[in-house]
Amino acid sequence: MPVFFIEPEAIQGDGITLTGSLAHHLVESLRIQPGEELWLGHSGGLRFRARVIRADAGRLTADIISSSNPPPAPSPHTTLGLALIKSEHMDWAIQKATELGITRLVPLVTARTVIRLSPERIPNRTARWRAIAREAAQQSMRWELPEVTEPKPFATWCEQERKAMCRLLLWEHPQGRRLRESLRGKQKPETIAVAIGPEGGFDDEEVGRAERCGFENVSLGPRILRTESAVLTALAIIQYEWGDVG
Ligand code: SAH
Repeated sequence: MPVFFIEPEAIQGDGITLTGSLAHHLVESLRIQPGEELWLGHSGGLRFRARVIRADAGRLTADIISSSNPPPAPSPHTTLGLALIKSEHMDWAIQKATELGITRLVPLVTARTVIRLSPERIPNRTARWRAIAREAAQQSMRWELPEVTEPKPFATWCEQERKAMCRLLLWEHPQGRRLRESLRGKQKPETIAVAIGPEGGFDDEEVGRAERCGFENVSLGPRILRTESAVLTALAIIQYEWGDVG
């Protein structure tokens, strides 16, 4: 059973009251019954073990049995700059990046992104990505929700990430060092920014711009991975070397 993220106002003393979509999901989809126990948590805060008292479609009440403090925040704080790719692959990549502990996801508009989102579609698409990240964070029992921003132009994001202690651009051309060598040549940073390109890759102007913003080009090896495969691979390697995977 995953943890479910709740808002602070759901807590009243030793009791928890859930309404809206979460109550409906728990009661109607998961068929939660009185007497069952749930994990409920504040993103980045306390996690509660609670026993269900009442379970109606629009409202669920539970008594808090125990609470636990969050572990130290995961490090490095990882921001994934992910070029917009086809919807089902984007959804999968967001789910896997969340399972692998990213702190922030920034969808990127790059020169070769095939997907062009009209301004009126951005709020709904961003809400969808946030829902995917929330579901993946709950399922993977994370203590905090990753932030998902609205799409940004690649150039804007590169400038904003100048403050990251480590900046990596995944580049499928052999000029770059292997990711493994790059990580092993550094002290573990507090913050890291990782850029991964669209189906058509980054163009030379983007690679140059990223370098001017302090990004290092790194390779994942001789085979060309799909964007979503590169997301999983790069984050797994980074978490293996500097994080808490493997
Ligand atoms: N331009 C490529 C396709 C891009 S792959 C082609 O010639 O077909 C999509 C993205 O995944 C790339 O922009 C890069 O960020 C990442 N990627 C894929 N394979 C990679 C590799 N071997 N090393 C580093 N990054 C890779």
